[in-house]
Amino acid sequence: YMTWNEVPAAPLDPILGVNQKFQADTSAEKVNVSIGAYRTDEGKPMVLSCVKKAEALLLEQSDLNKEYLPQRGDATYVQLCQKMLFGEKSKLLASGVVATAQTLSGTGALRLGAEFMKKFAKGKTVYISNPTWGTHNSIMTQAGVPFSHYRYWNAAGRDLDLAGMLEDIEAAPEGSVIMLHAAAHNPTGVDPTAEQWGEIMTVCKAKKHVCWFDSAYQGFATGDLDIDATAMRAFADEGLPLFVSQSFAKNFGLYGERVGTFSITCDTPEAVKAVMSQLDIIIRNLYSNPPKHGANIVKTVLSDPALYQEWRDELKAMSLRIQDMRTALYDELTSLGTPGSWTHITSQIGMFSFTGLSPEQCTQMVEKHHVYMLNNGRVSMAGVTSKNVKYIAKAIDDVVR
Ligand code: PMP
Repeated sequence: YMTWNEVPAAPLDPILGVNQKFQADTSAEKVNVSIGAYRTDEGKPMVLSCVKKAEALLLEQSDLNKEYLPQRGDATYVQLCQKMLFGEKSKLLASGVVATAQTLSGTGALRLGAEFMKKFAKGKTVYISNPTWGTHNSIMTQAGVPFSHYRYWNAAGRDLDLAGMLEDIEAAPEGSVIMLHAAAHNPTGVDPTAEQWGEIMTVCKAKKHVCWFDSAYQGFATGDLDIDATAMRAFADEGLPLFVSQSFAKNFGLYGERVGTFSITCDTPEAVKAVMSQLDIIIRNLYSNPPKHGANIVKTVLSDPALYQEWRDELKAMSLRIQDMRTALYDELTSLGTPGSWTHITSQIGMFSFTGLSPEQCTQMVEKHHVYMLNNGRVSMAGVTSKNVKYIAKAIDDVVR
């Protein structure tokens, strides 16, 4: 009979693995800035108040049952999510040409998109930013979808390599799929400006590319849901074909509830019907149907004007605390006289700071100072607090000297 003695142990996940190492560290000083999860200024995970209220409302609903959802998920939830992504005034939504399925958060949305591509965009390559959230690459590998990269990061200026990005998107074969971070690029914290987005759109349009917006941080770049959707909505208005993966992990703090959507823009409502029927089949054979609880929370908040406003306020507060920590870390480094320029810490946006520390310096941060960050220099600013910021700054100061 088969044994599994020959199965090699897999390497730790590049992000979740750092988290595991953090858990095992017994140092009292240890700091975890590896994972993109929001923490309060006390360093604690946070459940949003609008979420608690929605859950209380859900408990009161006597007709709430635990029946299966359809493969594509809850229809009302999906409609509310579409509005949040494309906007109340979206022409695409008015003409009924967006196919959207509820998914297992953003990762599930990405995987569903990859499975769809494997069936209906055979041989097409997905172009992913370099660098990116590493799972973009591994999802494509696991799903068997060819992928390549476009330049994104200009290390010297710690900003966007727009010329390189445009050149690579231009050089991609016509009708390729270009993965774009909708807002708050992970890991660099650098988004294109409105003007740069315009240039990216022009090239994508000329090359008839499909643009795949990965929206995992809507509201985290500027604190405003609509402003953070501006680029994607401009592409939609311009009529470019889009895929959109959406996650409520960060902006709703619903990490473990696995709430998201995947959308495909189509030409006609008939095409939407057919595409949805195909997504149903893919989902049926992956996990049958999505979980209800998280979607019910989001549905409750998005359909209640008072709760919706409360959520927007809470989202703004989270993004403001992160901005405060950027300033605090910058100030600490400046007062220590740490060699180098650190203005990128305050100019970068979203959850992360791409510090520019070398892999060796990152290793020292972890091994010597117990500051758990990614080896590519990414620090989750959401894990920085007024208590640990001095310690983190001192550690950075030590490893760069
Ligand atoms: N895309 C990007 C760019 C991300 O950073 C993340 C979360 N780290 C995701 C998608 C998806 O995360 P989740 O599956 O938890 O929604």
